[in-house]
Amino acid sequence: MSIELKNVTKRYGQVTAVEDISFAVTEGELLALLGPSGSGKTTVLRLIAGLETPASGGIFIRGLQVNGVPVQKRNIGFIFQNYALFKNMTAFDNIAFGLKIKHWGRQRVVERVGELAALLELESLLQRFPHQLSGGQRQRIAIARALAPGPDVLLLDEPFAAVDAQIRQELRQWLVRLHQDLKVTAIFVTHDQEEAMEVADRIVVFSKGRLEQIGTPREVYETPRNEFVARFVGVMNVLELEVRASVARCQELEFPAHGLADGQKLRIGFRPYAVQVSGDPAALRYPAVLRRTYFLGIMLRLEIETPGGLVIRSRMSKEDYSRLDLADGRPISFQIRAYRVLSKEGDPLANEVAATHQMPPSLGEGI
Ligand code: ADP
Ligand code: MG
Repeated sequence: MSIELKNVTKRYGQVTAVEDISFAVTEGELLALLGPSGSGKTTVLRLIAGLETPASGGIFIRGLQVNGVPVQKRNIGFIFQNYALFKNMTAFDNIAFGLKIKHWGRQRVVERVGELAALLELESLLQRFPHQLSGGQRQRIAIARALAPGPDVLLLDEPFAAVDAQIRQELRQWLVRLHQDLKVTAIFVTHDQEEAMEVADRIVVFSKGRLEQIGTPREVYETPRNEFVARFVGVMNVLELEVRASVARCQELEFPAHGLADGQKLRIGFRPYAVQVSGDPAALRYPAVLRRTYFLGIMLRLEIETPGGLVIRSRMSKEDYSRLDLADGRPISFQIRAYRVLSKEGDPLANEVAATHQMPPSLGEGI
C-alpha cells in the first residue's frame, strides 16, 4: 500500500469535516475522490499532505504512520484549482522552484525541467511569465512543477475546474497519459462524476464527510451501494414502489414483489440504458409520450412520460434514434429491462442492494 487512511476523523471546531474514513491507495494508482462540495474531499487531501492533523485515526505512507510528520518531509506534489504559479517567475523558474529549494545544481535543474517540458509539450513556453500563458498551459506548468522533484505522491485538488470545457478535456488526457508514463501514485479530487470516471483507476465517493463507496468506475456505476452513489454517479431513474396484490407498483409500472407483504414500500433505481424504447406505441409493455430529446454528442437522452405522469429517462445512439423514427411529442412504448432495489422501508441497506435484477419476461418483455 502506498497510502492508507485508517478510521480518520477530522473536526474544525463543531464541524466534523470527515468522519471515520478508511481507504488505501495502491502504489502507482490514480484514485479519484468524488463528492459534492463540502463533502470533505479537500480535507482528506490536506490530511494526507500533512497540512492538517486528524482528531483520531492513522495516516500511513508506505506503511509508516505519518500523523506527526510535517508537510516538507512527506515528498508530496500538489496541484490546486487556482493555478498557484509564481507570477513574477518564468515558466522555467516555476518548474525549477522545488529543485532549487533542494539545492540541485544548475545542470541537473536544466535537464530535469527539459525532461518535463518535453513530456508536457512546454518547450516553447519556458521563458514566458504566467500572464502570457493560457489557463490550460498554466495548469500544465503547475503539473510539471509538482512533478519536478519526483514526488512519491501527487495530490490534485479540482485541478481543472477553472478552465473551460475543451481545455479541461485536454488536460484530463494529459493527466491520464502522464500517469501511464510516470506511474506516480496520484489522488485526484473532483466533484464531476464524468471526470472521475474518465481518469481514475478507482473512485472513492464521499458524502457529508463519509465514505459511501470505493471501487472502479464500472463498479460504482453498475453496482452502487446506495441511492446517494447511484444518483451521484451518472443518471438514475428512481421510483418509490408500494406492494399491492403481491406486485410492487408505482403508478402503472409494475415490478416483482420478491415475496414482500402488501403495503411494503421500497425504492428502486434503473439506468437510462435499461429503458428500451420503441417508436410503435403498442410494441412494448408500457405506452408513453416522448417529451424531449437531448443531444449529448454520440448518445441521445430521451425524456418520456407515462399517462400517469411519471417522467423516465432513457438513452440511445443516434443511429437507433433515426432507425426508430422518433420525434418529440410522439406516442411511443417502453419497457424496463433491469433495475436495482435501492432501499426498503425500515431496511435502508437491503441485501438486494448488491444485485441487479433482470425483469422477468412476464413483466419486462411482454407485449
Ligand atoms: P470539499 O473539498 O469536498 O468541498 P472540504 O473538505 O473543503 O469539502 O470541507 C468539508 C467540511 O469542512 C465543510 O463543511 C467545510 O465547510 C468544513 N471546513 C473545511 N475547512 C474548514 C476550516 N478551515 N474551518 C472550518 N470548517 C472547515
Ligand atoms: Mg474542496
